[in-house]
Formats: sequence, C-alpha cells, structure tokens
Amino acid sequence: MARDRNLPFRGGIDLGGTKIEAIVVDARYRVIGAVRHPTPTSGTPADVAQAMAAALQEAAGAAGSDARSLVAIGVGSPGAVDTAPGTVASARNLPGWDGRFPLGETLAAELGTIVQVANDVAVATAAEYEFGAGRRYRSLLGVFWGTGVGGGLILDGQPFHGRGGAGEIGHMVVRRGGRRCPCGNRGCVEAYAGRFALETRARRRIADGTRSKLPKIMKRKKHDRFTSAVWGEALEQGDKLATELIDGAVAALGAGIASAVNLLDVDAVIIGGGLGVRLGEPYVQKIEHAMAGHLFPGHQPPAVHLAGLGDLGGAIGAALLVRRVRARPQRAPGADAGGVEPDHGGVGRDPGAVEPDQGAQEPDTGATSAASAGSA
Ligand SMILES: [Zn+2]
Repeated sequence: MARDRNLPFRGGIDLGGTKIEAIVVDARYRVIGAVRHPTPTSGTPADVAQAMAAALQEAAGAAGSDARSLVAIGVGSPGAVDTAPGTVASARNLPGWDGRFPLGETLAAELGTIVQVANDVAVATAAEYEFGAGRRYRSLLGVFWGTGVGGGLILDGQPFHGRGGAGEIGHMVVRRGGRRCPCGNRGCVEAYAGRFALETRARRRIADGTRSKLPKIMKRKKHDRFTSAVWGEALEQGDKLATELIDGAVAALGAGIASAVNLLDVDAVIIGGGLGVRLGEPYVQKIEHAMAGHLFPGHQPPAVHLAGLGDLGGAIGAALLVRRVRARPQRAPGADAGGVEPDHGGVGRDPGAVEPDQGAQEPDTGATSAASAGSA
C-alpha cells in the first residue's frame, strides 16, 4: 500500500570529521536502520556528499525502505552551515572544503527527498535535550569532544545560536598565547583537547623520539589516524604519552567548560563526541573534577553527564531536524499535507511522550523551510 510506504520514516546523517553516521528512524524516533562509514580523508565535498548518500541508502535498506520513500532527511554538518539553502562552508576537518558547498541540494538530488542541513553540535544538543541525558533540565551546555571540540546551548528551554555562531566552547581561551589552535588562534580549548590537535601533537612527539603504543594500536585496528578507539585503547594499556596528552585535554576542557558555566549558569553539562563517548563515564568525572577549581565559588555546580544517546545522538538530532516535515500528501490535498507547520519557536517538550508530528517540539535548528533543498 503506497500510503504505508510513506509512513513517517525519516533519515538522519551525522557528518563527522572521522565518520559518517546514517540512520533511519520511525515515527517515534526509534532507530530502525543504522550504518557507519569512515569520512573520506581526501577528495572534494562532492565525494563526501557521495559517501553520505551511500551510507543513508544503506541505512534505509537496513530499515526495509529506500531513501526516496523517506519523508525527509536531516543532516548535522560541521562548518558554517547556512540552513536555508543548506550550504556548508569552511568545514576545516573535512577534505577540500574551502569554499561553500550546496550539501543539502546535492543530497536531495541524489536521494530524491527533502533534505535539511544544520550545525552538527546544535542538533546533537537538541537530541540530548529531547531524549538523552539532558531531558530533566531547562538549560544545557552540550560539549562534543571529538575531532574538534564543539558546543551547543539550550538556555531556558530554547536553543541559543547567538547570531549563528554561539556555543564555540572549543575556542574558549584557556591559555593566553598558548598552543596554536586549528582555528588559527592561540590557547583555545581545542588546541589541547581536539582529537586532531592531539594527534598532531602526538605524532610530533613520537617523531622526536617519545615512545608510544599509539601507532601500533592504529595499525592493528587498520585505522589511518589516531581515532577515539585508538586513544581509548592506548589509555587502557597505560601508554604514557597518551595519558599525558589526554590529561592535558581534560584540564583544558575543565577550565573552558567551567568558564562557560560561570557565564551562563546552566543546569547541566553533557559530554559527548567521539572521544567523550569512547572514554566514557570515568573521563566525564575527570572533567567534572577539573572544572571544580575554576567554578565561581558559591555558585551551585552544574550536573555533568555523559551523553545519553552515545554515538547516535548526532544522527538522531539530525532526524529531529525534519520532524515537522510532513509525509507527502496521500490524503486530501491542501490542509496540512506536504508542508511545514508554523514555527513554534522553542524546544518546549512534553516529558516522556514523543509526538513528532504534533509540531510542538521543534528541537532546534533555525531551519526555516522544508523545501529549501529541493524535493521530489
Ligand atoms: Zn580555536
């Protein structure tokens, strides 16, 4: 039955510096198909888009569906995302991504359905707020410790984007004149904690003669970089260099996050991202401990939690991005079919219940138009 095939399955793609996570969710945001592929390390944005489309097709296949019959697909992307046209610029952790690339349009053409694009950490924070470790709180700082260090904010139940650039927790300065950050400035949290910066540092130290198990673990895992899994195993094996660098990362995260908390006084801090999820609860506690010395005395410290949705949070958040896109009209034309509900402007939620089509739980975004990136 054609209409059943259009039941509201949605797609979500989390584009990371290391991996592409593609999922298909049912109407209650349960994951019914999931696929993970490495992010291409060379080539152009078009090659990355191709890999994303392939991953999503596979996830749709695993869900017994196909991309074309999904209501819509949300994408969480790093870089400067312009949500209305779905373009992405300066995604510096991705290959050849110097200019502005029409990611939404390219994927929509390739996959044959509506595609919306938003910032990866903003959607991941929204997912934690809706379904994850942030469910109980009104104000959140999401910290995504991975290739870079990204941050998302929800203040008094509303996603906060500032003028589009808010939440850059990775670029809080923790040491004036400190180490050069991948962003070009000095002394940022990310210069000490981002996986990319950590790997650069580790490779330099190893080249200078410091012994470390990191390269051997990488080879055995058949990875071509020091992934979160490589760091995790090196720590478990007590590798000195890995321990020293990750301890430095934890100290930088603690200082940067505490500074942000002193400014914003959020209820909770959620630690996610590839490294955050891989290193898990013990490191969340270390970060909480590292924050303690920098929190303003007399303030009540925030709760600090590990991301509740694990690796899939970004992709679930991406799927949430298109929650208000309706299934293409199979019923009476007109009315509410095929469109987007008016903006309710908030993340207001109804604890426990997930009613994606009620439109009252707009997760995040800033995306304004469902049809922005083409449609069937
Ligand atoms: Zn920076």
